[in-house]
Amino acid sequence: MKEKQKKVYRTEDPKYYIVSYKDDATAFNGEKKGTIVGKGVVNNRMSNIMCKMLEENGIETHLVEELNDRDTVVKAVEIVPLEVIVRNVAAGSFSKRFGIEEGTVLKNPTIEFCLKDDALGDPMINDYHILALGIATEEELKTMTEMTFKINELLKAYFEKIGVKLIDFKIELGRVDGKIILADEISPDTCRFWDAETNKKLDKDRFRRDLGGVEEVYQEMLKRVTK
Ligand code: UDP
Repeated sequence: MKEKQKKVYRTEDPKYYIVSYKDDATAFNGEKKGTIVGKGVVNNRMSNIMCKMLEENGIETHLVEELNDRDTVVKAVEIVPLEVIVRNVAAGSFSKRFGIEEGTVLKNPTIEFCLKDDALGDPMINDYHILALGIATEEELKTMTEMTFKINELLKAYFEKIGVKLIDFKIELGRVDGKIILADEISPDTCRFWDAETNKKLDKDRFRRDLGGVEEVYQEMLKRVTK
């Protein structure tokens, strides 16, 4: 079973949930488990900073209000059961699948969709499958794709300014009042970040691959975004 890295609580108002970020860490569809001390605080604060930046640039997100270091009020959405992954540089499963060395800069950013289904291991799914299974409408798919690429451009530019290369990331989107909005964290758990000068990994790959210095790089990322 996949341990939950965040807990979601209902509130008295059905329009809002509270997300509580924990220090629990999992990888490889829950096969690897551990704790990254302080991670919940970093992910909560960093995600909220990123959502604010995106909102200022015309992307609607689930962010409502940060309550404390670990807890945030978010809009209740109907999650589209897809993990949307954008890649600027080859890494992880992309490198493995296509035999491309990690670190190879892609000629174009790419997008891929995975069906959110733990039992099936989140299989990759294409646009036609999504339409065939009724997971999203054609219009929603177009919106999700355009929004995700725009998010990529905004994040890439933001991280470049703080000396970080955005290699790839995963987001989830949700529906609220007929609109598609960003309904996910943006953190070292869900993005690959490499230091622009040294290519040092500043993300969850340090946990996945037992590279050491895990806690330190989470703190380093929070320091860079709060400077
Ligand atoms: N990712 C994620 N959750 C997942 C799978 C992937 O947040 O369940 C993120 C991961 O951190 C990376 C990007 O999506 O930034 C692409 O991951 P990839 O497909 O290469 O899979 P991985 O190598 O992480 O298994």
